[in-house]
Amino acid sequence: LILQDITPEEQEELNRNVFLTTVEQIKAWARRGSIWPMTFGLACCAIEMMAAGGAHFDISRFGKEVFRASPRHADCMIVAGTVTKKMAPIVRRLYDQMPEPKWVIAMGVCATAGGPYVKSYSVVKGVDQIVPVDVYIPGCPPNPAALIYGLHKLEEKIRLEAKIGKRVIE
Ligand code: SF4
Repeated sequence: LILQDITPEEQEELNRNVFLTTVEQIKAWARRGSIWPMTFGLACCAIEMMAAGGAHFDISRFGKEVFRASPRHADCMIVAGTVTKKMAPIVRRLYDQMPEPKWVIAMGVCATAGGPYVKSYSVVKGVDQIVPVDVYIPGCPPNPAALIYGLHKLEEKIRLEAKIGKRVIE
């Protein structure tokens, strides 16, 4: 495409898209600096998640401390623990109740792939079988610093998605 070939209508469309992209990037900037996780834990990894909110690790330094008791007020689901088959439909329902845009972090090997219970008849082999996962954090359990690292990765992803204009789920 040569620039002189652009019609006035196309130029107007181009300007509008450039403006919209900028708006999306501003919104992403605000969102990634103020992630509101859901208050929700499934097993031992949740203890590390709670420690991340305590005075020592203090995730409020990064604007991530506003844990919400209702999924309707949260935009990030941190799946911290073992997902049993009995719990799976509840996890999905909670995810569905969260408003868009929303993100999911699989914290620990249980949430990522079943972990030490991978051979159990009662455990889901990864929460990504139920909900789309944005960030996986390895470890059993990952310590609070690993969770903070995962939250920073989520920030990077939100920024990149706003840049390319679409969700990316691995
Ligand atoms: Fe517990 Fe380890 Fe599973 Fe985390 S990954 S819920 S620490 S068994």
